[in-house]
Amino acid sequence: MVSAFRKATLDRPPRFHFAKVRFTNGMMKRQFRKKLLAWYRRHRRDLPWRKTKDPYKIWVSEIMLQQTQVQTVLPHYRRFLRRFPNLLSLARSPLSAALSRWTGLGYYARARNLHRSSQILRDRHQGKFPNDLREAMRLPGIGRSTAGAILSMGFQQPHPVLDANAVRVLCRLLGIAQDPQKAPVRRRLWRSAEALLDPQCPGDFNQALMELGATCCLPTHPHCLRCPVSGFCRARRENLQDKLPIQRRRLPLSRPLRLHCLWYHSPGKVLIVQRGLKEKILKGQWGLPEAPHNSPAPQGRLLARVPHQILHYRIELKISQAPRPRPPQGSRWIPLSEVGKYLYSSLWHKAIRAVQTSLNGG
Ligand code: SF4
Repeated sequence: MVSAFRKATLDRPPRFHFAKVRFTNGMMKRQFRKKLLAWYRRHRRDLPWRKTKDPYKIWVSEIMLQQTQVQTVLPHYRRFLRRFPNLLSLARSPLSAALSRWTGLGYYARARNLHRSSQILRDRHQGKFPNDLREAMRLPGIGRSTAGAILSMGFQQPHPVLDANAVRVLCRLLGIAQDPQKAPVRRRLWRSAEALLDPQCPGDFNQALMELGATCCLPTHPHCLRCPVSGFCRARRENLQDKLPIQRRRLPLSRPLRLHCLWYHSPGKVLIVQRGLKEKILKGQWGLPEAPHNSPAPQGRLLARVPHQILHYRIELKISQAPRPRPPQGSRWIPLSEVGKYLYSSLWHKAIRAVQTSLNGG
C-alpha cells in the first residue's frame, strides 16, 4: 500500500521546482547566507579544528569526524596532534604508531589511509596538503566532500561539502523527496550546495551548514522554531520535516559474528598473531589467535565471553585456554604492559581484562 506521503511525493512532477524557484534569485541566496552565517558565528560550538587554518589539522579532524560523534573525537584529536603535530611527523612514523593513536576510534582504515596519504604528500608534494581539489581527491580516503571541507576551511576555496548533516539540511530546505543516495539526486544536491555556497567565506559557510544539521536540523524532531533559515525551508512550510530526507530501506543494524580465540598462558605476557587481510574485521591487525575452525582438538577451559560491536557486526567473542602449549606459527609474545603498541581495537583490551579477571578468580 502506498502511504499518503509517498503518494503525495510521487504525484508531484517537478521534483526540484522549489529549489529552482527559490534560490535562483540572487537576493534570496544572499539573505539565506547572511542568516545562516550570523547564526553560526553566534551559536557555533567551540571546537579546536575551528581555530586553525592549518590544512593538516583540519584534515585530521575531518577524517576523525567521519562516522564518529564530535564528543568522541575531541580527546582523540588532541592526543593524535600531540603525537603527530604536523604532516611530516606523521609520515615519518611507522603505521603502527598511527594505529596505536587511533585506538578507541574504530574504522581503522581511516588511520591507514591518513598515514599512507601523509607519505604520498611527503614524497610528491613537499610535505604539504595540495590546494587543488582534484589532487586532494587522489589521496586515499579523501572524497569530494572531505576535500571540499579541507580546501574551503584551510585555503578559503569555494568548494561545497555534502556530509550527512549537509544532505539532511538541503533535502529539507529544498523539499527533495527522493533518496539522496541515488546518483541523479546526489548530483542535484551537489549543484544546490555549490549554488548556495558563500564565495566570500566558503569555510565558515560549509561549517555553518554542517553545524545546523548537527545541532538544529536533527535527524528526528528538528528544532525548526529556532532555526535561522526556517523561512526558506520547504519541508517546514509543508510540515514534512520528519519525513525528509527519504531513507533508503535500511539493512539490519547489526549481524552476529562469533569469534573463538585462544589464551596461551605465560605470566605477564600475552600471545598475539597478525590477522589475515581477508578477515571480516580488524584485517591485518594483531589480535588474539583464533581457535582453528572445525578442529577436532579438545577445547581448553572457557575463560571469558566478551560481547562487542565493530562496524555492523555484533560480536560474541569466546576465549578459551589454549588446549596445547605450542603457539601458532607467526605468533609473538608481548608484555601485557605493551599491549597498546600492538592491539588497537578495544575488543582485545576488553578481552584481556576479562581473561585476567577470570584467571584471578574474579
Ligand atoms: S526549518 Fe526545520 S527542517 Fe527546515 S532547515 Fe530548519 S531545522 Fe531543518
